[in-house]
Parts: sequence; C-alpha cells; structure tokens
Amino acid sequence: MEFRDLKKQYQVLEKDIDIAIKRVCSNANYISGTEVKQLEEALAEYVGVKHCITCANGTDAISVALTTWGVGAKDAVFVPDFTFFSTGECPAAEGAMIVFVDIDEDTYNIDPKKLEDAILKVKEEGEYVPRVVISVDLFGQCADYDRIKPICDKYGLLLLEDGAQGFGGSLRGKRACSFGDISTTSFFPAKPLGCYGDGGAIFTDSDDYAELIRSICVHGKGLDKYDNVRIGRNSRLDTLQAAILIEKLKAFREYELEDVNKIASLYSSRLEKVCEVPRILDEYFSSWAQYTIKTKTSEERIELQKYLKGADIPTNIYYSKPMHMQKAFIDRFEAYDTSVTEDVCNRVLSLPISPYMTEENAVFVCEKIEEFYQSK
Ligand SMILES: *Cc1c(COP(=O)(O)O)cnc(C)c1O
Repeated sequence: MEFRDLKKQYQVLEKDIDIAIKRVCSNANYISGTEVKQLEEALAEYVGVKHCITCANGTDAISVALTTWGVGAKDAVFVPDFTFFSTGECPAAEGAMIVFVDIDEDTYNIDPKKLEDAILKVKEEGEYVPRVVISVDLFGQCADYDRIKPICDKYGLLLLEDGAQGFGGSLRGKRACSFGDISTTSFFPAKPLGCYGDGGAIFTDSDDYAELIRSICVHGKGLDKYDNVRIGRNSRLDTLQAAILIEKLKAFREYELEDVNKIASLYSSRLEKVCEVPRILDEYFSSWAQYTIKTKTSEERIELQKYLKGADIPTNIYYSKPMHMQKAFIDRFEAYDTSVTEDVCNRVLSLPISPYMTEENAVFVCEKIEEFYQSK
C-alpha cells in the first residue's frame, strides 16, 4: 500500500499529462511560457483572489511574502509550534524573532487565544515589533480565521496564510489561500495539489503587493529582467510544471477533493470507536493533506505503527518535534505555553490517504487498527 498514491494518479491522468508535457517540449518555452500565465489565472479564479504569482516552491513563496513586507531583525513573527519547518525557517532567514505559538488540540491549528496572549507579551517586553502572523492550514483544514483576522486587525499585524497543506479546503465556501493579506501554497508532489517536482504560488488581492512579488521573484526586475530596481531572487515555476498542474487542477476540482473526503469519512466513521480521529469543524471543508489520528500514549503509537507496518500499511508521524525544540532555532525564538504541541507530538499518527485510495484498502486499514485495539 502507498502512503499517498501518486503512481495511480498518473495512470489515470497519463494521456492528458503526456500531451501537455509534449506541447511544452515542442514549443520550447521552458521558462515563463503561456501555460504559466494560464495556470495563474485558473488558480486565482479557483481560490477567489485577484492575483496569483507562481514561484519555485512553497518555502520561497513564504520568503517572498516576508520580503515584500520588508520583515527584518526588529520584527516579531508569530508561527504555530506544530508545523513543517519552512513556516519558521523563512521568517528566521529574514532575521526576524520567531514567536512559536501553541495549537488547538482538535484542529492542530494555531490557538487564537494563545496567539493574542503572545502578541501582548511581546508588546509588553518592547524589544520587538509584532509584525506578522503566519497561520498554517494544517493537514488540509483552514485555521480559525474568524478569530485570527480580528486579532491581526486589532494589533495591526499582517496575516500570511501558509496554505501549503490547505489548498482546496474552505471555510463557509471561502477557499484556502484567500484569507491572508498574502497567502501561499506549495505544489510539492504529496501536497493536496502537487506537481512533478517543486513548485509554489503566492496569492493576494493587493495590486501593490502583486507587483512587488512579481519583481522579487524575477531578480528585482523593473521594466524587464535586465532592468533591476531591487535585490530579488530567481523563483519561478517551470512551464512544464505549470502545464502538468493545469491538467491536475481539472481532476482536483472535478473529483479528487470529493473522493479524498469519501475516504476520510469512511476512516472516521469506523475509527472513532477505537481512537481519536481528526475533527473537522462545522462550516469547514478539508482537503485532507493528511489523515491524522491520536493514540493514547507515545508507547501505544510505537506499537500501533509497528503493527500496521507488519500488515504492509505505511504510516508517518507529522510532526514528532515542536518547532521550538528544533536545534536550528535555538538562538532566536520565543515560546510561552506550548503544552498542547508537546503532547500531540507524542501521539499523532498519519494514515495512508489519497483520492485514489480504494475503499477496500481504507477498510483494510480500519480493520487492522480495530484488530490492534481489540488485542490490547
Ligand atoms: C510543504 C510545506 C511548506 C513548504 O513547501 P515546499 O514546496 O516543500 O517548499 C511550507 N509550509 C507547510 C505547512 C508545508 O507543509
């Protein structure tokens, strides 16, 4: 069994993707070809924002957003303690002070109450200016924007939505990557919408930010790339990846999101009787980047993972370490109460899931987990 079945996806889409790849090869516009613009328009329309600018990967997308705002050494950036490394890495690379904030134990997303407490503490200490909140839509579910946005507004912080795992999810029909002043996503192959290599995108409704982002991604270009008006970088999505993504976005919209939700429902309806299953809040729709259960203890997790491995069922632990415990941040972070993150890091276990997973395989996973708990 595959953890995320990308081979099956290619088999289903093979014909259309091969045609798209061949077209790009024949045209030989490998950089900034027409497919890139076409994809950006399709993504902006899908997400419901004015501008989409594609870039080289989801990490660059976050960094470019922070560069656009001129985030630097005097600034404090608030990041969930439970996320992929990039979310903290990018503001750290800009020299900012990272404040790791605890999460909600049901949704795994940043805890708005603890976020506000952390902003107040930083203000009180007076050493750094609270500038940006990076919210993460972890595992496919949007963060609590009904509460996060008003907190950003109240204290004058910019909101950067890291939608690398949230793409395709929504809150009352409003799609992920439309909540931030700038929002970002990743097309890493295993993400909800993945390409065949690295890729990323940046979303915003602001014309000014969009213009700056386009410049920063292409060597700080002014009128063209040989007119350089600022220090930028080279961060573009290849035409080949754009052409692949145009085909994959069709499948994503037409049936993949629906199908992955069917697998998640099947899992939850059976597994809720034996362990803690993921909780999707009312009015939220998840794109299921991961399906993550919680065991009672870390020992139980080790045993269950071993038991499933014995049945050829792959699992992964996202994430085993709170961000504030990563050595890389050792000199430059602040963290207040992170008790929930520390607890869930010991108990989470992500199960195989994808739109192409068969019902039989999902049932088999459930049976094995039930068997494990019955034998205890
Ligand atoms: C994958 C991921 C990223 C980084 O994306 P890349 O395309 O791999 O650089 C950033 N944030 C989160 C939450 C992610 O899951």
